[in-house]
Amino acid sequence: MSEKADVVIVGGGAAGLTAGLYASRGNRNVVLLDRAMPGGQAATTDTVENYPGFPDVPSGLELMQKFVDHAVKFGTRIETAEAQRLTPGTPDHTVHTSGGDFIAPAVVIACGSSHRKLGIPGEEEYANRGVSYCAPCDGPLFRNRQVLVAGGGDAAIEGALFLANFAESVRVIHRRDELRATKILQSRAFEKENLSIVWDSVATEVIGEQAMTGARVKNVKTGDETVLEADGVFILIGSVPNTQWLKGRLEMDERGYLKIDDACRTNIDGVFAAGEAADAVFRQIVVAAGQGAMAAISAERYIQGLKA
Ligand code: NAP
Repeated sequence: MSEKADVVIVGGGAAGLTAGLYASRGNRNVVLLDRAMPGGQAATTDTVENYPGFPDVPSGLELMQKFVDHAVKFGTRIETAEAQRLTPGTPDHTVHTSGGDFIAPAVVIACGSSHRKLGIPGEEEYANRGVSYCAPCDGPLFRNRQVLVAGGGDAAIEGALFLANFAESVRVIHRRDELRATKILQSRAFEKENLSIVWDSVATEVIGEQAMTGARVKNVKTGDETVLEADGVFILIGSVPNTQWLKGRLEMDERGYLKIDDACRTNIDGVFAAGEAADAVFRQIVVAAGQGAMAAISAERYIQGLKA
């Protein structure tokens, strides 16, 4: 199966859906590919407090459903398909997917990022039997239980605060003596009675029997090792871009983030990128949305230039 469009967008998070909205409003034939439900990582966030214009603090799912509705309203077609390869062409590029080929002169790569793993023994073994990467998804399963959180950034502290609403105790294991998370989240965490921080420490092993029973934790300053008993561990230590399928095709940095210029252009004419696949620094819904708009505007100018 192959399908022709004006703009093919890979990824249905904040960046891709905004690109879809803009390109569709430009009266272009737009196909957006997502390997699962559109909404991206933002849809798995408990609440979104910092997306402007939404002071009522929607859930991530509610906010992203609005992104989907908005893009679809103006004509973006959403297809479930996993992008596997990009073949650049002149003028048409081909995105090869699990559901066939999608061909267009302009492609917007907005395939986002995935949860970073700790890579410690037991992490894979106890996945879904204690180990989780998503507090809003799995948190309610840990009502009145003891949970651990690995990480010290916004995701970890926001996740820990959410978990503290259900769990008996939440211990955040952080490798330094200072959190990376924004101050407002830090002060909320310090005020929460059932939330504590295990400073200067890293989890070195997830241990258990049928299910996880705890984690081995090492103090990086003293070298001391202890076992913290817990029913779950939420690993919230950042993310890695989903760009492996583009290796050798598009320029990226050593961590896999796509290199783009200030108009969201990649090194291939007609291929643009936006959102967390190309943003190692800000990783905010509003930034991803802004870049999605930029990529779509650049794509429109590029298509118009082809006809000139
Ligand atoms: P992040 O800001 O990169 O923080 C990752 C945290 O995990 C850091 O504290 C880091 O420690 C720790 N870490 C990384 N690798 C580790 C490892 N191998 N072992 C142990 N600890 C490790 O990632 P994030 O929290 O996912 O946030 C990503 C971006 O999304 C940020 O820009 C953040 O502001 C944004 N975000 C915003 C919100 C919000 O605005 N409410 C919510 C979630 C995320 P170090 O501190 O020592 O480096």
